[in-house]
Amino acid sequence: MRFANFIGMILTENTTASIQTKADYLLTDSRQLTFPEKSIFFAIRGERHDGHQFIKTLYQKGVREFVVEENSLNETLRAEINSWKDATVWTVFSSIRALQKIVAEHRSHFSLPVLGIVGSNGKTIVKEWLAQLTAPGQRVVASPKSYNSQIGVPLSVWNLKKEHTLAIFEAGVSRAHEMEYLQTVIRPTIGIFTNIGSAHDDGFRSRKQKITEKLRLFTKVKTLIYCKDYTEVDEEIKLILRPVNPFLKTISWGSHSDADVNVSYEAYQNKTIIKLNGIFGNLQLETGFRDNASLENLTHCILFLLDFGLTASVIQERILTLRPVSMRLELKEGINNCYVIDDTYNNDLQGLTMALNFLSQQEQRSHRTVILSDVLQSGQAPTELYGIIAQLLFEKKINRLVGIGPELSRQLKQFNIAETNFYEDTEAFLKEFPFNSLTNSLVLVKGARTFSFEKIVHRLQQKVHGTVLEINLDALTHNLNFYRTKIGSETKIMVMVKAFAYGSGSSEVASLLQYHRVDYLGVAYADEGVSLRQSGITLPIMVMNSTAPTFDTLLQYQLEPEIYSRRMLTDWIEYIKLKNNSEIPAVHLKLDTGMHRLGFVEDDYEWLCEQLTVNPSIKVSTIFSHLVGADDGIHNNFSHLQYGRFIKGAVRIEETLGYPVTKHILNSAGIVRFPEFRLDMVRLGIGLYGVEATGQQQHFLQSVGTLKTVVSQIKYLSAGETVGYSRRGIVDHDSAIATLAIGYADGYDRGLGNGVGQVYVNGTLCPTIGNVCMDMTMIDVTNAEVEEGDEVIIFGSEVPITDLAKRIGTIPYELLTGIGERVKRVFFKE
Ligand SMILES: *Cc1c(COP(=O)(O)O)cnc(C)c1O
Repeated sequence: MRFANFIGMILTENTTASIQTKADYLLTDSRQLTFPEKSIFFAIRGERHDGHQFIKTLYQKGVREFVVEENSLNETLRAEINSWKDATVWTVFSSIRALQKIVAEHRSHFSLPVLGIVGSNGKTIVKEWLAQLTAPGQRVVASPKSYNSQIGVPLSVWNLKKEHTLAIFEAGVSRAHEMEYLQTVIRPTIGIFTNIGSAHDDGFRSRKQKITEKLRLFTKVKTLIYCKDYTEVDEEIKLILRPVNPFLKTISWGSHSDADVNVSYEAYQNKTIIKLNGIFGNLQLETGFRDNASLENLTHCILFLLDFGLTASVIQERILTLRPVSMRLELKEGINNCYVIDDTYNNDLQGLTMALNFLSQQEQRSHRTVILSDVLQSGQAPTELYGIIAQLLFEKKINRLVGIGPELSRQLKQFNIAETNFYEDTEAFLKEFPFNSLTNSLVLVKGARTFSFEKIVHRLQQKVHGTVLEINLDALTHNLNFYRTKIGSETKIMVMVKAFAYGSGSSEVASLLQYHRVDYLGVAYADEGVSLRQSGITLPIMVMNSTAPTFDTLLQYQLEPEIYSRRMLTDWIEYIKLKNNSEIPAVHLKLDTGMHRLGFVEDDYEWLCEQLTVNPSIKVSTIFSHLVGADDGIHNNFSHLQYGRFIKGAVRIEETLGYPVTKHILNSAGIVRFPEFRLDMVRLGIGLYGVEATGQQQHFLQSVGTLKTVVSQIKYLSAGETVGYSRRGIVDHDSAIATLAIGYADGYDRGLGNGVGQVYVNGTLCPTIGNVCMDMTMIDVTNAEVEEGDEVIIFGSEVPITDLAKRIGTIPYELLTGIGERVKRVFFKE
């Protein structure tokens, strides 16, 4: 090991300037490691994660450059680092600042136009659109997706290379004083301030402060484009920015006549005419977009392009090709037992890298296929570009590559992959590819838009009937983080994924949880545990209801049983005596403190302790109990009583065992209502899936599941007709009635019929009419604008599942776990 700055020396932030890295890749998330020898790892300590925990593993994987924080090194870590003979370790005060410094230094080697974008909304769309609009003629580097944070910005700017002729980066801040760091990293020469939203931001005292903070990005730009209709932005530019940047050229636009460019929109049936009047002359441009947000974003793009020197006719031609920006990535079940990952985001090196990272997080299948199109408009020489892609696919252990496009076909020799197929175009692929040869694989489908890869996805995905449950993986992560922040870093987390992960899909949810390193998973039955193991889940798993006949399975799959009774413990002792040479799983002791379901009661404790003493080969991992009414204040006294009983029992058992045992009693509701009972671990359930069981903090959670179906048919009925079985749906005025492709067999409860339930169609809530059938439901769409084939939301953010449950006197748990097996689950992230 070589400490570039010796620990113990006085370090200032300046010392990071001396970091001379040889690395090509900056790594801030250990899970995204691809090229160990070429990466420098920045150990970052956040609210929930500490990158220093992973430096040892990374060293073992071949990483040889590290930036670590002086204050995060403990004795063990120092000793570990000291034992490395061939690594360079820089110690700094803040790894994030060091990262920013290194990239700021990198940035200083280039002099090209650099556009920096700030604003409350639209940053990513303006950036993506401009990257696309300027691509003919320019070699553009841009932030991937919404990489605009203190870490995302340096990672984006690091991609700047000498061949680029234009750079576009977005910057976001969540609290004061962050932008000055981003300014030195991006060092923009041109700026766009998209807009300012009204949402209150915790990190700022006022909206004004938020605006001034954002404006700090522009202290050195030559030109700033902004919309003058946001008067506060306009004022702050004059008041705050102008004095520090006196030669600034502003291009303001808006409905005001005193703006540099007066802009108005004329709406037509299927297009909008944008009229611009001012410093660029009198212009009229046409677009297919009609909503205000898109028009505002587009106007920023147009003004940038005009200032950049493009003619109105070229701009007109190019803006007609714009589409809404899609960053959506979907994971769904495919043909031949495959999983299909459908990623619509840019097929450039960064987009591909991110998609491959997602692919390698999935544990459901060990075989991995990539169907890839030519990468267009990269500005890089093909041999170099495809050389990097080949390396990337190799490092990510891709087993099969299907390359589509003339350029990939020319570069086929570069790929060192077990199985490859190459096709000139998508049509040839669809005609000639042996689809039966693609089985049990995780298939990433990633293509440039012109290749129409949606046809490939369509061919590969399982034909879905009209009803799907969409699971938002970003929302799951958000909710997990909400609870993690609440419990703090000292308390472990077990996530309950029983009952098909509350109906959401166990292997996909468990994969995500494994990626986010939760401590334990909990399932109800051994079978559920087996299916997780078969999907590549290696986390410890607790099984709540196991019986003697399943013990072999537990042993084989290393699943840990909950032991709840004398009879079960006796069976277990007998069993492990027979298997005394095997790796016996640890167990979890369940105490019944008042639920009176499963668990040892106080009378059992003496016996239990004796058994544990004479059978030391029983390894106890945790002791736990369950509150009967954690969600409701009415039961507070009883919850305290239960907690007291639990501690008494658990401590007694722990003393008998003579080693520390993890203790836990809280479910989702308990985490919110009883912070003092968090102990060593909590068991998160419904909260992860977006339902805050106490109702008090629902607004902090994001909605995870959206159950969607489609309109199969529309009928126009006169008053007096009836709808459905037993003539229960009485039409009392002339009505439009739509039939939906969902029924009680899909989990739409029969109690929701006859107007009890409402669904969301094109912005309107429509009541059910008549009885719910097994596979179909009828709704009254008289007041809605609906066509056959339209999408219908059964529940989701527009129709909260909590409301739906209330209408039929049940709880969200039952609705979620009742969603039928034939309803396909589709997982997506942005
Ligand atoms: C299901 C379950 C949980 C999770 O409960 P939620 O209310 O969904 O948070 C916790 N503990 C046990 C024993 C469970 O069975």
